[in-house]
Amino acid sequence: MDLGIAGRTALVCGASKGLGLGCAQALAAEGVQLTIVARTQEVLEHAAQAIRGSTGVSVTAVACDITTAQGRAQALAACPTPDILVTNAGGPPPGDFRDWERDDWIRALDANMLTPIELIRATIDSMMAQRFGRIVNITSSSVKAPIDILGLSNGARSGLTGFVAGLARKVAGHNVTINNLLPGAFATDRLNATLAGTAKKQNIDLAEVREQRRGTIPAGRFGEPAEFGAACAFLCSVHAAYMTGQNVLLDGGAYPGTF
Ligand code: NAD
Repeated sequence: MDLGIAGRTALVCGASKGLGLGCAQALAAEGVQLTIVARTQEVLEHAAQAIRGSTGVSVTAVACDITTAQGRAQALAACPTPDILVTNAGGPPPGDFRDWERDDWIRALDANMLTPIELIRATIDSMMAQRFGRIVNITSSSVKAPIDILGLSNGARSGLTGFVAGLARKVAGHNVTINNLLPGAFATDRLNATLAGTAKKQNIDLAEVREQRRGTIPAGRFGEPAEFGAACAFLCSVHAAYMTGQNVLLDGGAYPGTF
C-alpha cells in the first residue's frame, strides 16, 4: 500500500535506537524526509547513515536532550514546520512512590508529558494552516493497564493522554490527527534494562526473567521495533485521516480486556 506521504517531512524524537528508530526507518521507507533526535551524537549519526543508505531520503541528525527547552529549540531550528511529528523520550525509572520527591515527578512530567505538549504547541499551527498534519506520541501500555513499579510513567503519560484527547478534537477539522501508540514489551535496550533490573532485584537469572516475561504475552514473543514503526507509518499516512484521538495498543495480546 502506498501511504501517500512521500516527500513529507518528519521530526522523530528519541530516534537513534529502539521504537523511535523503528518509526524513523518506516517513515523513511515511505520517502519521508527526516530530522531525527537523540542525545548521543555518535549513535544518532550512525542511525542517520543507515537510514540514508537504505532509503536514500535526506536525514538531518540533531544531537540534543529533547526534554530541555534548549534541546527542543535545536530540534525545531532544524525542522520548524514538520508535516509529521513523532514524540518520544526515555521512560522514567521504576520504584516505590514513597521514595519519589517532587523533583522526580517534575522530571517524569517534563519528559513524558510536557515535552510532547511543547513540541505539539510549536508545530501544530503550521500543520493546521497547510491542512495536513500527523502527530504520534509514543506512550506506553501503562496508560491502559498501570504497571506496578512504573508509577511515574503511569501518572505522567496519563496526563499527556488526557490532554491529547481534548486537543485531537479541536484540530481534526484541519486534517491534523493526533494519536498515541502504546507499546507493550518490545525488544529494545529499554526492555533489556528493565528485565536486568528485575533480575537483580529478585536475585534470579536474567534469562529466567526474560522467559517469564515472554510467557505473559499471548503472541509468545517480544515485539520488534520494525512492527512498531509500521503502525506509526500507517497512522501518519493519508489513509489514516479519519483516525484521531486514539490510543493504539501494540502488545501481542498482553492486555486482557475486551475493549
Ligand atoms: P530505547 O532506550 O531503546 O530508545 C530510546 C531512544 O530515545 C534512544 O534513541 C535514546 O537516545 C532516546 N532518548 C532517550 N531520552 C532522550 C532525551 N531526553 N532526548 C532525546 N532522545 C532521548 O527505548 P525504547 O524501548 O525505544 O522506548 C521508547 C519509549 O517507549 C520510552 O519512553 C519507553 O519508556 C517507552 N516504552 C517502551 C517499551 C518497550 O518494551 N520497549 C514498553 C513501554 C513503553
